[in-house]
Amino acid sequence: DGKYGKKVTREELGRCTWTLLHTLAAQYPEDPTRAQKRSARNLINSLTTVYPCKECAKHFKEVLRHSPPQLNSGYELAQWVCRAHNTVNRSIGKPIFNCERVDARWGQLDCGEGACSLEGRRPPV
Ligand code: FAD
Repeated sequence: DGKYGKKVTREELGRCTWTLLHTLAAQYPEDPTRAQKRSARNLINSLTTVYPCKECAKHFKEVLRHSPPQLNSGYELAQWVCRAHNTVNRSIGKPIFNCERVDARWGQLDCGEGACSLEGRRPPV
């Protein structure tokens, strides 16, 4: 395993990536600028070509082909990421997540003093 010990598994990579996508969606503005929409679209689309799990990337490309990202508001994006994640869950035999609960699961961000929220869409509690 080398000097630092642990290898990154497909599962760990997946959990970290979903954390990024759901957290990003939870902080995405209700009224995004064109630049923000473009960046979010690029980030999501990039996973189909450079996500470091070939099978996952290929699979995600299919997910996007059937259901392109919805980037017009924070609510839409959070729901879209939830559905995309559920599509993956279904295909690998994981439980389906109730998308009504996505905000309760991912809406809170804690890196102190609200420092990591994008535009205060979710004020720190
Ligand atoms: P994860 O699925 O990683 O979820 C983490 C947490 O998110 C869960 O504990 C739950 O609290 C919450 N959650 C679960 N579902 C939802 C949802 N729909 N909405 C909101 N929150 C939710 N693995 C493969 O084996 N084959 C693949 O083809 C594959 N493709 C992938 C494609 C992408 C783009 C990504 C990011 C990951 C992919 N993975 C794939 C990895 C897989 O999705 C899981 O991340 C991994 O198996 C670890 O699963 P987990 O049980 O820890 O929970």
